[in-house]
Amino acid sequence: MILGGGPAGLSAAIWLKKLGVDAVLLERSGALGGLQRRSPYENLWIPGVQGRTGQDVANSMADHAAALGVEVRLNHEAPVMQEDELYRTGDFAASYVVIATGTTPRAGRFHPSETVAIGPGEPMEALDVEGKRVAILGGGDNAFDQARFARDRGGQVTVFSRGEPRAQKMLREMIPDVRVVVGAYEARQKGMTVNGEVFDAFGIMYGFEAVVPEGLKPRRKGGYIQVNRLGETSSRGVFACGEVTDYWHPCVTTAAAHGIQVAKQIAVKLGR
Ligand SMILES: Cc1cc2nc3c(=O)[nH]c(=O)nc-3n(C[C@H](O)[C@H](O)[C@H](O)COP(=O)(O)OP(=O)(O)OC[C@H]3O[C@@H](n4cnc5c(N)ncnc54)[C@H](O)[C@@H]3O)c2cc1C
Repeated sequence: MILGGGPAGLSAAIWLKKLGVDAVLLERSGALGGLQRRSPYENLWIPGVQGRTGQDVANSMADHAAALGVEVRLNHEAPVMQEDELYRTGDFAASYVVIATGTTPRAGRFHPSETVAIGPGEPMEALDVEGKRVAILGGGDNAFDQARFARDRGGQVTVFSRGEPRAQKMLREMIPDVRVVVGAYEARQKGMTVNGEVFDAFGIMYGFEAVVPEGLKPRRKGGYIQVNRLGETSSRGVFACGEVTDYWHPCVTTAAAHGIQVAKQIAVKLGR
């Protein structure tokens, strides 16, 4: 049972099929491809693949799974229950589970709203920032990237970073005109204040953490599922692969490679 149909889950499913293991791929959303489905930009980072957008890559991986006859169920999100040696979700039961559910932006104590965006990309783009006072909370690459985008859209931006910013020097140097406040701060969604200063919009850039399917409790570290070199988690029969594990360095190719390693290990355990 593979949970998550991004590059990691799709690779695991494709390889399990090729290795002769009976498996089902369960995806929460209405389409396969994971984060690649959100990218209309050319993917320049897959060795041997040129001139394809992220969406092309998502479609190509989904087509590959379909051509092999991989069993897929979309719009599936049900808790996983463990009964003796089996894991069950919905109508499915399996001896092994592969968690390939990716990550989600960390929210801290904040809640998404019209004036509070959690994480980069679509939530930030939906914020009305033109002529508005915008506080970006965080000191990593995404904080500085999003500060630049908000500034370019006409926002009066301040970045609040608890410690010396971790963002790449190049990104910091791109916004010399943006105020950066370094040190402890108190931000409140109620009243929209940071250290008592009022803002119209917040961008929360606190990094990412694993999406862990309901019912499973693998050990985590720093918000990510811990795995050994074979992709095994602390829970018996439960594997994890791709971004959910903080695999170094997360991208399509590494997520796919990790899915393959997990598939191979399951096949070995089943004597295939
Ligand atoms: C805009 C954008 C552009 C990018 N460009 C590139 C690029 O050019 N090159 C590159 O290599 N990488 C790129 N990446 C990064 C790349 O897409 C990710 O590293 C990769 O998709 C991670 O794969 P994954 O399978 O681990 O997770 P994801 O792609 O996040 O897939 C996880 C899947 O699990 C599903 N899911 C979540 N919870 C559940 C649940 N409970 N049950 C079932 N399913 C669930 C999700 O719906 C999703 O489909 C880009 C990312 C973005 C956002």
